[in-house]
Amino acid sequence: MLLAALAAVAVAGCDRSKDRGGVTVTSTSSAAVSPPAASVSALAQAASSPSEAADAAAPAVGGLRADYNVLVLSIDSLRADMPWSGYPRDIAPRLTELEKRAVSYTRAYAISSYTSMSLGGFLGGKLPSGMKRSGFFFGKYAPENVLFPEVLQASGVRTIAAHAHGYFKGAGFEQGFDDYELVPNIIFKNETDPNVTSPQHVDLAMKLLGDPALDSKRFFAWFHFLDPHDMYVSHEKDGIPPYGPTARDKYDAEVTFTDRHLGRLLDFVEEKPWGKRTVIIVTADHGEAFGEHGQHAHGFELWENLVRVPMFFVVPGLAPKRIDVPRSAIDLAPTILELLGVDAKAPASGGATLDLEGKSLVAEMSGKEQPAERDVILDLPMTSDNDKRRALVRGTSKMIAFGKEESLRLFDLAADPEEKTPLPRGEAFDEMARRYREMSKSVKEVPPYACGPTCLNRAYTKSGGGK
Ligand SMILES: [Zn+2]
Repeated sequence: MLLAALAAVAVAGCDRSKDRGGVTVTSTSSAAVSPPAASVSALAQAASSPSEAADAAAPAVGGLRADYNVLVLSIDSLRADMPWSGYPRDIAPRLTELEKRAVSYTRAYAISSYTSMSLGGFLGGKLPSGMKRSGFFFGKYAPENVLFPEVLQASGVRTIAAHAHGYFKGAGFEQGFDDYELVPNIIFKNETDPNVTSPQHVDLAMKLLGDPALDSKRFFAWFHFLDPHDMYVSHEKDGIPPYGPTARDKYDAEVTFTDRHLGRLLDFVEEKPWGKRTVIIVTADHGEAFGEHGQHAHGFELWENLVRVPMFFVVPGLAPKRIDVPRSAIDLAPTILELLGVDAKAPASGGATLDLEGKSLVAEMSGKEQPAERDVILDLPMTSDNDKRRALVRGTSKMIAFGKEESLRLFDLAADPEEKTPLPRGEAFDEMARRYREMSKSVKEVPPYACGPTCLNRAYTKSGGGK
């Protein structure tokens, strides 16, 4: 009981916005798990162990191999405007080089606008509204949720994670991981994250990935990096001068610092015997605000700067390319399962199965299918500290619903990417409102198990927050 309480307090440090402005999250609405790619049967056969000659060559259909590992490198608060997408400062040379070798999504969305909701949805492969969770802002997910690493684990894939914030101790994210560690000696603060963790984090990742057992057993590994999260700590003593005095300048230096250490990890992976058959996925749990819509940090709203993120996949055997249709992190779970050759309908150890709401991206990444337009849903359920937000992205249209009453605003992202001027009511508005309401009715809503009606949205309401 005490531990749970401590964990909850610790967690409260991660994602609190200094200003209740706007935020957003995305995910797709498709409930279907994608059909297996051409190579799936071969992948399935190789789910638990690589082939004898795995490191030499394991060709499969469509350029895909049958013996992948999957390594997810998620970076907290990493905005979509990075050097590879046009940001003019060279703040992430290693990731920029990596992206050149990747299938990269230019319009990728997180599932929500802050850590707890985005990463809960990532692991469950579904919108957080439909997952059993406490209802507190730094929420705990209940053991009844089925998380995709549980299915990987039950299928014989080794599952590894190490993270750099106390929230990850009490969040319920450890289900299904054979190894689940936190960077040691982290200081907890309620309003910000003052820790510098990338050096120790990469050391810990290398220790875990250095296990010789991985030379003969396939794995899924996930490391969530935290340094770009506010507060923006100086790394001048490490030879990274501040780019300037603004918050964005300091944030950029945090990104550079993280990129440098990620580079050490990428070099390590490259040299391992399994390096050339390891898929590397880079993404973020949400973006970051630097004054847009009067907001700093993240959470609370679903504006583009808060929900657009990098999302790219270095898949050995697949040629680099960029895909411009909107996609969201809701598709990551089915994609990872397919890359590892594990049936999305396979049971976890207790017999429960996943109920994935996304669609595997493997077929479109390999060129077997053309990327089709699909809707993206952003989902921010009400918690102790935030009002409800939900949004629908369809092509270049985005409709955001504010609060329980669902006051709607429509934006044309092509003409107004910063969402400054809502479109007037009219035919286009009515059509998108109809689509939004239809989508929203289909979203499962699981009531919080701990924070009830007198708790929900209380801090937010007391603070005078709102639209
Ligand atoms: Zn976060």
